Amino acid sequence: MTKTYGFDTLQIHAGSRPDPATGARQTPIYQTTAYVFRDADHAAALFNLQEVGYIYSRLTNPTVAVLQERIATLEGGVGAVCCSSGHAAQIMALFPLMGPGKNIIASTRLYGGTVTQFSQTIKRFGWSAKFVDFDDLAALEAAVDDDTRAIFCESIANPGGYITDLDAISGVANKVGLPLIVDNTSATPYLCNPIKHGATLVVHSTTKYLTGNGTVTGGAIVDSGKFDWSASGKFPSLSEPEPAYHGLKFHETFGPLAFTFHSIAVGLRDLGMTMNPQGAHYTLLGIETLSLRMERHVANARKVAEWLENDPRVEYVTYAGLPSSPYFDRVEKICPKGAGALFTFAVKGGYDACVRLVDSVELFSHVANLGDTRSLIIHSASTTHRQLSPEQQRAAGAAPNVVRLSIGIEDADDIIADLDQALAKATA
Ligand SMILES: *Cc1c(COP(=O)(O)O)cnc(C)c1O
Repeated sequence: MTKTYGFDTLQIHAGSRPDPATGARQTPIYQTTAYVFRDADHAAALFNLQEVGYIYSRLTNPTVAVLQERIATLEGGVGAVCCSSGHAAQIMALFPLMGPGKNIIASTRLYGGTVTQFSQTIKRFGWSAKFVDFDDLAALEAAVDDDTRAIFCESIANPGGYITDLDAISGVANKVGLPLIVDNTSATPYLCNPIKHGATLVVHSTTKYLTGNGTVTGGAIVDSGKFDWSASGKFPSLSEPEPAYHGLKFHETFGPLAFTFHSIAVGLRDLGMTMNPQGAHYTLLGIETLSLRMERHVANARKVAEWLENDPRVEYVTYAGLPSSPYFDRVEKICPKGAGALFTFAVKGGYDACVRLVDSVELFSHVANLGDTRSLIIHSASTTHRQLSPEQQRAAGAAPNVVRLSIGIEDADDIIADLDQALAKATA
């Protein structure tokens, strides 16, 4: 697949070719666990990573491989690895970089589940995270120490739709010689290409816009292929001999594909956070219409945000696509096709009014999800960000008087009418 095709073409064709056995035009669901070796030499070459091929579906599967190539192409990376969820992708992204005692620097503005994963769960591996306001570049740089192994942020960040200045953040990452990992879930490669702004790795929850219709969970890690894993001696999993593969050095052997090969040959092999072929099929179907959906998501979000901003029952709206947003200037630079479809607004009447609002919507679904064709609403402070302290909630943009919207692709007038009637009940 040549890179000269446009996005709309690549989202349908990248990675897929008619099935060589049957001519099937749509990518078949290869529902198989194992693959027959040609002979004993073939098996040995595959197990030694001397030949690329299929062994066992915990590591590789042809349906999943098409999705991996498609996501890598859309993001402008050299390779991608899919896994069972977005959270699995985050662990898989950190796994080759980290070790006991090592830390990452993460933005305060993150998906609530990611804050919990980074502030609590990764401690069980001996890893830790320091949370910093990524608008404060000096604080970011000052937080880096000898044990820091990565910098992590979201391009369009949960829950407020805050836009990260990826150029500035990658500038700091380059200066301190660390990889920058960007969660591009809320933007998708249609709105933002973090690799163009200096990201080393891009992670996705494919559960959201890439699949697009709330059917399956999945994740992906895309490698830019641009980071020198051997330069600092800080990434021995990639630069030093790997005992499980007869002392093979991933970076020396696979060059820019070192991270991708390691994620399959060691990460998926031993952590087992594998995407199943049925899940990959749903996501492949979804990606075919990504640009069309994102255009409508963005257009609807802009209309709804403008309407809310002018409503007297609303205190403020955080949508970065509004000229009133402090991040409006970053839209042009970071995501010129639009500021996404995820934002929050504050309801006059505080926590109780927010709870009444989510109980009063009819078209909106009150769910812990985003990036669905359907419009979704959630009161973060009582749900996704419930585990956080009030200071963490406020820093994350999930204050008690705030609800988060994920604007769907229904008729904008219907979305607005539903919010209108629900706000009437919430603030009565
Ligand atoms: C949903 C989400 C995740 C977690 O993904 P899962 O597929 O639910 O595990 C991570 N980051 C962001 C930005 C998300 O929206």
